[in-house]
Amino acid sequence: MRSIPTLLLASLAVTTAWAQGSNPAASRATHTVAGAASGRIAFVHAEVIPMDRERVLHDYTVVVDGGTITAVGPSASVRVPAGVERVDARGRYLMPALADMHVHLLDDAWKMMLTPEAKAASAVIPDEAFLLPYLANGVTAVQVLSANAYDLALRERIRRGEVLGPRMILAPMVDGPDRAWPPPISTWVATPAAAAAAVRRMKAEGYDKIKAYSFLSREQYDSIVVAAREQHMDVIGHVPYALSVEEVVAAGQRYISHSEEIAKHAATYDSATIDRYATLLVKNGVWMSPTLVTTHAFLDLFDDPGSVGRRPEAEYFRHPMQAGVWGFLLDSLYLKIPASGRRSIRDGYEQFQLAFTRVFARKGGKLLAGSDTPLPGLVPGFALHRELRELVNVGLTPYQALQSATTGPAEYLGERDRRGIVATGQATDLVLLTANPLADIAAASTVDGLLMRGQWLPGEELRRRMRATVASARTP
Ligand SMILES: [Zn+2]
Repeated sequence: MRSIPTLLLASLAVTTAWAQGSNPAASRATHTVAGAASGRIAFVHAEVIPMDRERVLHDYTVVVDGGTITAVGPSASVRVPAGVERVDARGRYLMPALADMHVHLLDDAWKMMLTPEAKAASAVIPDEAFLLPYLANGVTAVQVLSANAYDLALRERIRRGEVLGPRMILAPMVDGPDRAWPPPISTWVATPAAAAAAVRRMKAEGYDKIKAYSFLSREQYDSIVVAAREQHMDVIGHVPYALSVEEVVAAGQRYISHSEEIAKHAATYDSATIDRYATLLVKNGVWMSPTLVTTHAFLDLFDDPGSVGRRPEAEYFRHPMQAGVWGFLLDSLYLKIPASGRRSIRDGYEQFQLAFTRVFARKGGKLLAGSDTPLPGLVPGFALHRELRELVNVGLTPYQALQSATTGPAEYLGERDRRGIVATGQATDLVLLTANPLADIAAASTVDGLLMRGQWLPGEELRRRMRATVASARTP
């Protein structure tokens, strides 16, 4: 996410106290929606895309017991035990479910951006209204790059089965004070000691990784790196302006959350520069989310501020809070960017980010698909598919694009032995598609069922929930 200009901070800060004082979990009704994993299910006669290499296994059967795959083989030879629920998957494609490794949750913290009227109208936004679109799009894991207390509590409620939602990897955002996103979206640290203390507190509270943001000083950043190493946490995120790309790589930063971050630090956009940065990151095993879709949304909004609201998926993003956040960010950030700034964002995208992503992938760079939802134009779940299409447009094969949302995240999370591919012994979530995404990446969005943590959600059930919970939570 880009930063809110400093001049906006005064208005945002006024409402920050409200957001900090809220108790996210306490006011919610508690009801079980996820239920226990029904246990055993078999997908019979499926076209299986295992993602171990580029291939489709014709007429295969996959048996899953309590979330773990217990058998994969030709339908003629795999015996489905009695009592196992059978899903006839003939003509449909079964593959690992997807992960979006750069998201923000439309949680309580974002309410600071709403007008008082909008805030009153959306006192209780259903969590499902911003979580279900992930599932309906086959996304069962997200890395949250501005995680806060609300998200910690929400993750717990998902674990307990009270809310249906994806698995969450939570990374709070740490930044220098008074510069960009106000608390609790971000955590501001004024000194190196405060930065180290924040990292230790975040570890103790249960967060997974630390996201460094743009306005950290060199001393603050270094302090975060040392403290995170002590706490066995990865430092991920932006490349602070105070440092170079080379310096964050040398510091061991594990992941860079936008290709735009490299563009910002590049003096020129020629092919030698692009090659040099791609080589540096590949050689050091740094993970990268190109987030082309994030920059593309800016360009579409510059061309026509109403365009992203007319995207088909905006149908699922009409809750007053969702509309209010988009409206605020459009009016106070996106559309305030002067012509010169718009020009440099466009140049960065067209002359650097696209080529960089292509070269990085060609060199074997470690890609993680990420969307930066819910920034304007970016609807949870749907935006990941836009990013996959962007990756194919710059020259990746559909298989490579899908790796960035399946095996890539599993490797990044150190879980490749149990997640990311369809194979016996894997605990990977599965998605059923009506068309072959290896032939056309657009088919990755034809979700017709999801097996998440052992729970089977047929396509009609996902669509019913989307209509009932998401489409109905709209601006009057
Ligand atoms: Zn972001």
